[in-house]
Amino acid sequence: MSHVIEFAATCPRCKREQLQESFTLADLMGLLYGGSPIKAYCSSCAGFWTVNVQKRVELGELVAARCGASTLGALTAGAR
Ligand SMILES: [Zn+2]
Repeated sequence: MSHVIEFAATCPRCKREQLQESFTLADLMGLLYGGSPIKAYCSSCAGFWTVNVQKRVELGELVAARCGASTLGALTAGAR
C-alpha cells in the first residue's frame, strides 16, 4: 500500500496544474475516509493549498479504481 498516486491539481495562486507526487494510496485513503483536508503543493509558489471537493471526488474515484469499486460509495460520501 505504499504506491504513490500521482495526480494534477490546479494551484489557486498561479492557476497552473501542479503534479502531486507525495501521496501514497494509503495516505489518500486515510485523508478521504477521515474527512481530512488534502494539501497539495505548488513548486512555483512554494506553498500548500487544500484541494476542493471536486478534486476530492476525483481522487476518491482514482483510489477506488486502484482498490476496487466497492469503496467508491464510502469515499465520495466522505467528500461531502
Ligand atoms: Zn502556484
